[in-house]
Amino acid sequence: MTKYIQYESYDLRSYFSIMPGHIKTCFHCGHILCSKEMHFSKVVAEDMKWDSLIPVHEFTILFQCDQCSWWCVRESWGFYETSNCMYDRLIVGVIPVGDQIEHKDDAPWLLALDDEKVYENLLNLPKEFAKFFLAK
Ligand SMILES: [Zn+2]
Repeated sequence: MTKYIQYESYDLRSYFSIMPGHIKTCFHCGHILCSKEMHFSKVVAEDMKWDSLIPVHEFTILFQCDQCSWWCVRESWGFYETSNCMYDRLIVGVIPVGDQIEHKDDAPWLLALDDEKVYENLLNLPKEFAKFFLAK
């Protein structure tokens, strides 16, 4: 069961001028991550309904560490007309602080992808996270 039952979201575009490649190793323990394509989030599903612009979904990928159970989801989408500035977002699993009731959810990323507000409070990517995108 994952300890990282909560999540926060980051805007990768505000940090990187050129879209970086995917992360390979865990932010916490450095172990190689497993990755898996996911169905796009509820937020993206809403944008896919536009008919005045042509929506484009690039990817929604879940990255998981089987060593420490940390996870993140990177998602990119946008519109054909503005394809030079696609959204590039990262949802990161975090350990709850304080006395949170532990629930038995094994897949908190599914809750995140189903959360209409998942990208409402975007944080700036910290330098210590950014370096994982640049590592070859
Ligand atoms: Zn790890």
